[in-house]
Parts: sequence; structure tokens; C-alpha cells
Amino acid sequence: MVSEQGIRWEGGESYGPRRILPLRWAAVVAGLGICRKNNFFYTEKGSYYKLEGYLLDRDLELRQNRKPKACPEKCDLCRRACGTRALSADYTMNPLACVSFWTTFGKGAVPPPLREEQFAQWICGCDDCQDACPYNRHDWDQGEDFPGLDRLVELMQAENMVKASDEALREQIIPRTVAHVLADQTATLRLTAARALRSAAAAREAGRTA
Ligand code: SF4
Ligand code: SF4
Repeated sequence: MVSEQGIRWEGGESYGPRRILPLRWAAVVAGLGICRKNNFFYTEKGSYYKLEGYLLDRDLELRQNRKPKACPEKCDLCRRACGTRALSADYTMNPLACVSFWTTFGKGAVPPPLREEQFAQWICGCDDCQDACPYNRHDWDQGEDFPGLDRLVELMQAENMVKASDEALREQIIPRTVAHVLADQTATLRLTAARALRSAAAAREAGRTA
């Protein structure tokens, strides 16, 4: 494609133009932020970003370099929060042990040696290593509401997702997974929702016997 200014470009995909660029590291090289020990891209506002990349046929000038402070040397809160030990070392993650991978691209499977209880109540993805990070602490009352969230809350409850129709999941849930769950993966959502219900029941039982 060619812009009005005559710049040839491709891109806009969340996973990197033509899938040749790792977007997190491209964003670091572009001076937009840093990668932290949990492997996520951060600006001074934290790591909850959806990155989109473009390939241009022009060299660009870096005018500002926004680099927040690096992780404290002794901090390992993200690694300790990872229930499957997928974060095996700083800046190192094993995707085949990651809850986020198995609840999405991995179609809900729990392959040994992983155990169901390690997945806690995650249905699609996992944010434990980001939620635990002090650089993600902020006031959730700030910013904009997720569009249409009120209308989705009921369906997003695990007990409703397990019995939702393919149509409801395809139209209302899957488009909001940012291509992590595909249109033909309604069974994945039911599988992970059922597992979340079992985890919640187990947690309640453990609380009663503690
Ligand atoms: S997303 Fe979840 S399972 Fe994956 S590395 Fe982070 S905490 Fe571990
Ligand atoms: S939890 Fe600590 S070590 Fe992990 S990314 Fe955040 S600051 Fe870095």
C-alpha cells in the first residue's frame, strides 16, 4: 500500500507485519519502552498494551527514547506468581508450560507434567506474571471502559460459558480474544471454562478445610 505521502507500507497486524517482526522487541528498538524480566513490553504505564507493527520503505528518525527504569535486580515477583514455572529464569519463558499458550493456541489441553490445578481459574490467557509486577500497579478507575463490557459480563461467567451456544461464543467472546481463540474453537472455551469451575470448587473446598 502507498500512503498519501508516497510511503509504501504493510502491516497493522497484532503479531507483526507479515509475521517477520517480534513486535515487543521492535517496540524496544523503536525507543517506545523496555522488555522486563517477565518478557513483556513496558512503557512507564505498564505492560497492558496491544502492539501493532508496520513495515515502511523509509528510514525514520528516533526523536524520543522512552525507557523506564529496568527491573530491580532482586525482584522475582513475576516468576513466583507463575503457577506452572513457565518463567524459568529472567527474560526466559517456556511457552509449552505457559497457561496462556494452552488456554488459547493449545486448545485447552493440559499436557503432562502440567496439572489442572496449576491453571487456576484462567479461561483464556493468563496475566499472573503481569498482575504481580509492581510496575503494573495502577488505579483501574482511570482510563476508558472496555467497550460493551456490561453486556458481556453474564456470558463471561464460567458457568454460563460452558453452556453457551456456538453462536454466542463466536459472536460475543471470540472476537475479543484478539485472535488468540479462533472461530472454530468454541470447544476450547467450554473446556477451559469447565476447568475454571472445577478450580473454583476446589479452592472453595480447600478454604473450608483450612
Ligand atoms: S502467562 Fe501465566 S503461565 Fe505464562 S509465564 Fe506468565 S504467569 Fe506463567
Ligand atoms: S515482577 Fe519484578 S522482575 Fe518481574 S517484570 Fe516486574 S519488576 Fe521485573
